[in-house]
Amino acid sequence: MNYLSTRGDRTPRKFCEILLEGLAPDGGLYLPESYPQIDRACLAELRGVYAGRGYAALAFEILSLYIDDIPATDLAALCERTYTPAVFGTREIALLKKLKKGFYLQALSNGPTLAFKDMAMQLLGNLFEYELARRGEQLNILGATSGDTGSAAEYAMRGKQGIRVFMLSPHGRMSAFQQAQMYSLQDANIHNLAIEGVFDDCQDIVKAVSNDLAFKRQYKIGTVNSINWARLLAQVVYYFAGYFQLTENDDEQVDFTVPSGNFGNICAGHVARQMGLPIGQLVIATNENDVLDEFFRTGVYRVRAAADTLETSSPSMDISKASNFERFVFDLLGRDAARTRALFHDALARSGQFDLSADPAFAQARGRYGFVSGKSTHADRLATIRAVYQQYGAMIDTHTADGVKVAGSFMRAGAPMIVLETALPIKFAAAIEEALGRLPERPARFAGIEQLPRRVTRLLADARAVKDYIVTHCNP
Ligand SMILES: *Cc1c(COP(=O)(O)O)cnc(C)c1O
Repeated sequence: MNYLSTRGDRTPRKFCEILLEGLAPDGGLYLPESYPQIDRACLAELRGVYAGRGYAALAFEILSLYIDDIPATDLAALCERTYTPAVFGTREIALLKKLKKGFYLQALSNGPTLAFKDMAMQLLGNLFEYELARRGEQLNILGATSGDTGSAAEYAMRGKQGIRVFMLSPHGRMSAFQQAQMYSLQDANIHNLAIEGVFDDCQDIVKAVSNDLAFKRQYKIGTVNSINWARLLAQVVYYFAGYFQLTENDDEQVDFTVPSGNFGNICAGHVARQMGLPIGQLVIATNENDVLDEFFRTGVYRVRAAADTLETSSPSMDISKASNFERFVFDLLGRDAARTRALFHDALARSGQFDLSADPAFAQARGRYGFVSGKSTHADRLATIRAVYQQYGAMIDTHTADGVKVAGSFMRAGAPMIVLETALPIKFAAAIEEALGRLPERPARFAGIEQLPRRVTRLLADARAVKDYIVTHCNP
């Protein structure tokens, strides 16, 4: 399998060549040159693998279709080491929970940081360590986080050979639980940098440091952001696992609803559907930051200014643009790289938006690709958290609540719906208390983490200060 760029660079690249990369050199995103096709016989086989040998074996089978530059025994071992009941809490790893007939939650948030990002990031940590050892190289991961991504990255990379993490977070602005999760890590290769500023300041510093190409090369700076293809690929697996848990034969259709921000999670659903998994609808749920809902309703993709990006009670979906969206548009336009480039490079730079409403391809977003969308607000979230708690006795977090709310508008007779549970309520306790008048339960392993000793360095919002810190703490 070779990979290409959505903006036209067709230099054949293997999986491990793009594993440690962000954007392609032409500014596009990497995609496989085609999606391997799963016919009904193959689907039946995968069903058997999952039922008989479990999630890690299923992950190995699916990853093998996209990775041909890691020996099979090594890849199988990496999957086995990653997807264990001890780390993810159940034998199924991504357990389906029934709310009512035809309506399910898929639990993706029982990993180390209680959000679905662990599902991919835990594998990424093992893949990075493996590939760096093979190359005899080191990597210094530099990132900015407002919560979920940073902690998932740190818990995936802690103690890994050849890897250091420098994670910038806005001082005092994450939830108490999120701060405790990150700052209590004592591993020598994890560096928490609390920046005197807001999340945008952290992101600007990461950009400034990464744009210093000499520094970037000398100090082997890399990232783990959501455009990484390996993260997306890891997420494809749980769509299959959800489908197999819900269905008994391989002709039944299932719909999925995905609380969406950067379009990473639902893009994995798109890949699974393109491979032939019988998914009917792919329902995008956004919060008030409705860039994606606007596109799927109107055909207009309009990037928001920072000032127009709202702070909501589902903060991990507060985006101004959806960084993985270009992958889907590339497919929607029949993989026309010149047009994709014209939209994402030229039109967005010129006017911050593009309009596909008059393009026949736009109708296919729904017709051929199964995409529909809806939006949920703070009031919707609270009402949904309350309703799910009262009707089913289940406590859901604010992001999952956006999913449940929007899923309600797209139920079809005869097709069951799976809503992806993207975080546990304890991560967003204040909103749960607002909705239910009580705090969410806390998994036992997180008891008292706010009292643990912290390992964090406070720095000014200044790229120079961050560079100095990196220089002092790594020996290139
Ligand atoms: C990251 C995140 C999302 C959004 O996922 P995307 O892949 O960016 O669409 C939704 N919910 C939670 C809890 C998250 O952490």
